[in-house]
Amino acid sequence: MRLKLAIQKSGRLHDDSLRLLKECGIDIENGVNKLKAEATNFPIELFFLRDDDIPQYVEDGVADIGFVGENVVYEKAKKVEVSYALGFGKCRLSFGVRKNENFDGPSFLTNKKIATSYPVLVQSYLNQHHIQAEIHEISGSVEIAPGIGLADVICDLVSSGSTLFMNGLKEAETILESQAVLIKKVGLNEAATAILEKLLFRIESVKKAKKNKYVLLNAPNENLDKIISLLPGMKSPTVVALATPGWSSVHSVIAESDFWELIEQLKAAGAEGILVVPIEKMIL
Ligand code: ATP
Ligand code: ZN
Repeated sequence: MRLKLAIQKSGRLHDDSLRLLKECGIDIENGVNKLKAEATNFPIELFFLRDDDIPQYVEDGVADIGFVGENVVYEKAKKVEVSYALGFGKCRLSFGVRKNENFDGPSFLTNKKIATSYPVLVQSYLNQHHIQAEIHEISGSVEIAPGIGLADVICDLVSSGSTLFMNGLKEAETILESQAVLIKKVGLNEAATAILEKLLFRIESVKKAKKNKYVLLNAPNENLDKIISLLPGMKSPTVVALATPGWSSVHSVIAESDFWELIEQLKAAGAEGILVVPIEKMIL
């Protein structure tokens, strides 16, 4: 029994999807140009598909799970369960208007022509704000629509905003914050669920590790209590005596988010020779 995972064949999510599997210690045999590939050391089989098709394949059970953008999941509105946020493929679905225009709220859109590849999400935004507007569904290069007179406004995926800018547009309002998620088939069988749980455990360990750093530092013994109180560690910091009398080496795990502030405080408390190293996996 193998868990069938659908990932994007090529495009923005492809490399990150494969990288995540690799970080989970899962080796995929070469064959990215094929439709399918198997892992050599984990009971998983990969399907390479267009991202737009992944929710349907998962709903139908052709694939058990998929890695796909939330934007696609909600637009396609298939019967699948969103089970885990993967932390890559971050972007926003936003309205873009001409640079010289002033978007002063949803009513700006009244009776406008809106070009988008996301008609379902745009329509639901319009309904929610009781706005009448005309949606033109186009499948690619949405950002050129205002320039060629096809639409007044666009609604498209944005990350930096530079594509909008290059086309004389600016970001006006975000309707969805998106990232890649793991979706699964509704009513996944027991054997597949057991493999999925193993996979999720590994993904979680990789994600936690990325959020943390391992710190090693030298501390004068008279300030040891103060330094230890700054470092929570997984249980508590490790303290080892240095060959130099009066000094100890302290090892601990710290959150990336607290990093700079903590380093300042450690230095102020007399810590020296501070080393910070990345953590590959973290199991609590
Ligand atoms: P496919 O051939 O698989 O249909 P595509 O052209 O629809 O590919 P890509 O442009 O590769 O798709 O984008 C795939 C996903 O990457 C998007 O659905 C979205 O979730 C995510 N993404 C992240 N950042 C961006 C961005 N700046 N623009 C577009 N998509 C982004
Ligand atoms: Zn697509």
